[in-house]
Amino acid sequence: MRILDIITKKRDGLVLSELEIDFLIHAYTHDEIPDYQMAAWLMAIFLRGMTMQETAALTMAMALSGNMLDLSAVSGVKVDKHSTGGVADTTTLILAPMVAAAGVPVAKMSGRGLGFTGGTIDKLESIAGFKTTLPQNEFIRLLKKYNIAVIGQSADIAPADGKMYALRDVTATIESIPLIASSIMSKKIAAGADKILLDVKVGNGAFMKKMEDAVKLAETMVHIGQLVGRETRAVLSSMDEPLGQAVGNSLEVEEAIDVLDGRGEPALRHVCLILGSHMLNMAGIVPDVTAGYEKLSKLIDNKMALHKFTEFVVAQGGNGDIVTNRKLLPEAKIKITVVSGEQGFVQKIDAGQIGYAAMRLGAGREYKTQTIDLAVGLMLRCRIGDFIEKNQELATLYVNDETHLEQVRTLIRDAVKIGSSNVSKTKLILGIVDKNGFKAM
Ligand code: URA
Ligand code: CA
Repeated sequence: MRILDIITKKRDGLVLSELEIDFLIHAYTHDEIPDYQMAAWLMAIFLRGMTMQETAALTMAMALSGNMLDLSAVSGVKVDKHSTGGVADTTTLILAPMVAAAGVPVAKMSGRGLGFTGGTIDKLESIAGFKTTLPQNEFIRLLKKYNIAVIGQSADIAPADGKMYALRDVTATIESIPLIASSIMSKKIAAGADKILLDVKVGNGAFMKKMEDAVKLAETMVHIGQLVGRETRAVLSSMDEPLGQAVGNSLEVEEAIDVLDGRGEPALRHVCLILGSHMLNMAGIVPDVTAGYEKLSKLIDNKMALHKFTEFVVAQGGNGDIVTNRKLLPEAKIKITVVSGEQGFVQKIDAGQIGYAAMRLGAGREYKTQTIDLAVGLMLRCRIGDFIEKNQELATLYVNDETHLEQVRTLIRDAVKIGSSNVSKTKLILGIVDKNGFKAM
């Protein structure tokens, strides 16, 4: 088999065999193919696409390029959750303890963020002492004991994806449905989940700006799951405005604690309850999503979900006192209020721009090796449909470095569009994709 023939075949729009895909991914993982040939192949995929069979073969080849985690020592159905990423999307920190408290083991490998804010791992690092790397036997021990463990994705999980993603990033080949779908699914499969729940974000703050593309991505991932024997379901949720109020690492930890304590942003709580109820349903412990929603709401009301969060933090070496004493989390030096210049109803909030503003304050990374400031970010104080007075607060900024402060103020004022017409609140859950296909909500 020759790599040149595989590139030519895809360039000409033909279908690759599983053998050809395996050969290519194996060779690339072992540095036997130069980046320029892989880049040409990726661009051919970007332009020509892949069949569902090819996408499933690519997914498995990438999953098998490294270690496949074996969670069979942990009893129960392990359901992993993955979000395609949004702004103020603190769902993992809320969902994981909530679902674990309901009796479903949550074994999570999370990434660091590249973009608006840190990933789950960055957020957890704002808790003093919290260990985000654990030996595999310790990870399994915590799972058996507490039903929950969250660690950083190790380098030997789908290494082909890591290499390919870096190349895609600099060759304009990120935005391809078969490449995104196989990238996400390969990591989830290698991380050992029995079943996978996907939160596919749609809107101006998401990868997928249009519903049509989001449905296609969701259908592709659900179909891959079916072809490789891991049941997969996708919830399509709105990212037309930030989901929670907090954008920034320690601020998002605080907001997660608020939601688990029965307070916090209702939109964030609702989306977490919906996602969690699907996880319980897939694990087979509730007959339907409605029963799951009720069960999880009760675990918030009786503080069992919050208790599980504390237990989880302490089990991984973190200071559990942060739950009752927020002063123990990193705090920014300065708080600054951004107010509205006009009055009216909030028509639109550009979530991407709000995320960018938080990144300019130091909450996110513009390049991979950048260090982030865990204390900084912002709290958004308005939502679409709210009536805002002139000089009413739009956001509170948490600042350590004032270099970009004026730009950040302008970004926020521009991101929140105010007008005279009374608009309705954002619809949060837009649809579901499962083995029966897409259902709009
Ligand atoms: N997230 C991933 O993990 N991979 C992609 O290709 C895009 C988003
Ligand atoms: Ca995220």
